[in-house]
Amino acid sequence: MSAVISLKGITKIYRTGNVAVRALDAVDLTIRRGEFVSVMGASGSGKSTLMNILGCLDQATAGEYLFEGERVDSLSKNERARIRNQKIGFVFQVFNLLPRTSAVENVELPLLYNHEQSVKDTRQRAIDALVRVGLKDRLLHEPNELSGGQQQRVAIARALINHPRVILADEPTGNLDSRTSVEIMNIFCELNDAGITIVLVTHETDIAQYGRRIITMRDGVIKEDKAVKKRRPGRGQSVMRHTAQDADTEGKKTARPRSTAPKPRGGKA
Ligand code: ADP
Ligand code: MG
Repeated sequence: MSAVISLKGITKIYRTGNVAVRALDAVDLTIRRGEFVSVMGASGSGKSTLMNILGCLDQATAGEYLFEGERVDSLSKNERARIRNQKIGFVFQVFNLLPRTSAVENVELPLLYNHEQSVKDTRQRAIDALVRVGLKDRLLHEPNELSGGQQQRVAIARALINHPRVILADEPTGNLDSRTSVEIMNIFCELNDAGITIVLVTHETDIAQYGRRIITMRDGVIKEDKAVKKRRPGRGQSVMRHTAQDADTEGKKTARPRSTAPKPRGGKA
C-alpha cells in the first residue's frame, strides 16, 4: 500500500508573547492508503496540532509533509486550501452545523466553495452522502430537530461530499453517549471498509479499538505505535444496514456500504 501521509521531522512551535510551546517535536509518521489510525494521548500532548497539520489547516514550523507524494509543507495558503477541499474531510467534536439550515443544505456547503460543480449535482451528492450515513429520512431536518448522533452524522456526510481520500476526525464521539458513539464508530468503520483512510483522535481506549493501529502521543512525540490485535466488532450493528430496509443485503459480509445503501429517488428534497 502506498503512503497517503508521510511526515518527517515535523515540529510545531507556538509562540505566545515570550512563551514558546513545542507542541510537536520532530514527528515522523507514515500512513498508508486504507489505514484506520487512532491517535491517543493526554490533553496537551499535541493531538489536535498534529491533526491541524495533517489537514493542511496549519503549517509546521519545521519538517517535511508529503500528501499523496506531493510536498505540502511549502505550499501557499491557497494551494493548501485546494488539497484540503479536494482530498480531506473533517469531523470535529462540535458538529459545526449552521442553525436553521436543513441537513441537505449543511452537507452542500463545502461544494459551494468549489465552482466546478453544478447546483443539481451538488444536491444529489448531498442526498447520496446523507443516505450513506443512514439519514435518508432526515434530509430536510434542521440541526435543532436532530439528535446529537444525527447531527454528527450530518457532519460526517458533509465531510464526504468532496469524496475525500482521507477523513480526519478529532474526538468525534466526545459529545455523544456511549450507544451513539458506537453508531458513529460503525459509520467510520464502513467508510474505512470502502477505502477511505481514517485518522481519529480519541482519549477513550474502547473507541480507539475501532482502528487498526493506535498511536499514542506524549509531549509532542509519538511514544507508541502499535497494531490493534483484537479490533472492536461492530459489523452487526451497522447503522446503514438498520436503515437500508433491504433484507437481501443483511448479513452479507462482502456487501459494501455503497451497495447496501438504497438509491435516493431523484434530486428533489
Ligand atoms: P491535544 O489536542 O493533545 O490536547 P494540542 O495539540 O491542542 O493538544 O496542544 C498541544 C500544546 O500546544 C499544548 O501545550 C497547548 O497548550 C499548545 N497549543 C495548542 N494550540 C495552541 C495555540 N494556538 N497557541 C499556543 N499554544 C497552543
Ligand atoms: Mg485536542
